[in-house]
Amino acid sequence: MIPTIQPLAHDPLNLKEITIRRLRLRLRVPFRTSFGTQQERDTILVILKTHDGLIGVGEAPSLVAPMYDEQYIWSDYDVLQRFLVPHIPTTITSYTQLQDETLSSIKGHHFSKCGIEAAYWNLVSQQTGESLKTLWGGEADIVVAGFSIGGQSLEDVLARAEVAIQAGFRRLKIKIWPSHDVQVIAALRERYPDLMLQVDANCAYDPFNPDHQRALKALDDFGLLMIEQPFSPHDFLDHTRFQAELNLQTPIALDESVLSVDDARRAIEMWRLFGVEDKLIINIKPPRVGGYWQGRLIAEMGYEQGIPCWMGGMLELGLGKWMNVILSSHPGCRLPGDHLQPQPYYERDIADPLPSIQPDGTIAVPSHWGGCAVDWQAVEELTIDLHTDKR
Ligand SMILES: [Mg+2]
Repeated sequence: MIPTIQPLAHDPLNLKEITIRRLRLRLRVPFRTSFGTQQERDTILVILKTHDGLIGVGEAPSLVAPMYDEQYIWSDYDVLQRFLVPHIPTTITSYTQLQDETLSSIKGHHFSKCGIEAAYWNLVSQQTGESLKTLWGGEADIVVAGFSIGGQSLEDVLARAEVAIQAGFRRLKIKIWPSHDVQVIAALRERYPDLMLQVDANCAYDPFNPDHQRALKALDDFGLLMIEQPFSPHDFLDHTRFQAELNLQTPIALDESVLSVDDARRAIEMWRLFGVEDKLIINIKPPRVGGYWQGRLIAEMGYEQGIPCWMGGMLELGLGKWMNVILSSHPGCRLPGDHLQPQPYYERDIADPLPSIQPDGTIAVPSHWGGCAVDWQAVEELTIDLHTDKR
């Protein structure tokens, strides 16, 4: 079931220098989930320089604390510095070599690996002249923009929804948690009967709690696109059984549960075993699954197996957002992604230009290499720590 696609062959990339930088950014709007509220965050850039003057940049969009999974900024920076960067081949001849010699040699730490892998694709695109869209099997020229709302109260959610709809967003995702769910969605649905609407629970529900069961089942009444990750990451079985036994009509989308292409395969097989495979959706986040190529393989499998996929987001900088938009153009990504919000995420970004929403609610997919230039002055000024490995 797992697709076997060969990445594009390229000439050897001869590395001169590898740098990891920790950047500190300020969010324009605090982001609230069931884990808490964020106002400021650090992120990591991986920068690969070749002897012939190419510079590849990738982002490891780390979180400030281990609240999405066990990874966080310090573990990501540490594992890059100690283990991953020293094992990047000085001459990279293929994606497979990078995967075998560097990425696969370390267990887990997918965010860090994504930073290296994104920088690598950035280099390959420049060297071969092929766009990331071509390299990753993208096809669409536009993708529909979705917006994820982490409002703290009903009034807050309604206010943010109105701003987003005025800005042209056609799909909203609402962060929910017990006590902040049915009432919020009912109010939104009443106000916007035709809006594409979905919810994300970030693992906040217990499949065996009767109150939680009732709340999730009640969401069936609102014509949602999906309920994203209600239960804990390891609960494949509980998710599927809940879908089947409670006859939940709204598809469940897996986010935190899918850490690899193989996890995606297991999910598809599990939903098939319960006879509810038409109600499975997979959220793809390259940092969660170890990079864009792994994300592409999941999209490919979703396409072949009839399971809709879509691109989530991890508060990436513009550079990572552009890459997400590009992978969203893959035919396996059939639903709107979390690419943008009505205003830029950060007071200052390193990407020029940033992805932006068009009047019809779509984002144009770049056909040149990666969508943006890097503002190196911003990189310098936002850097709070760096480590360089000269070759
Ligand atoms: Mg999610």
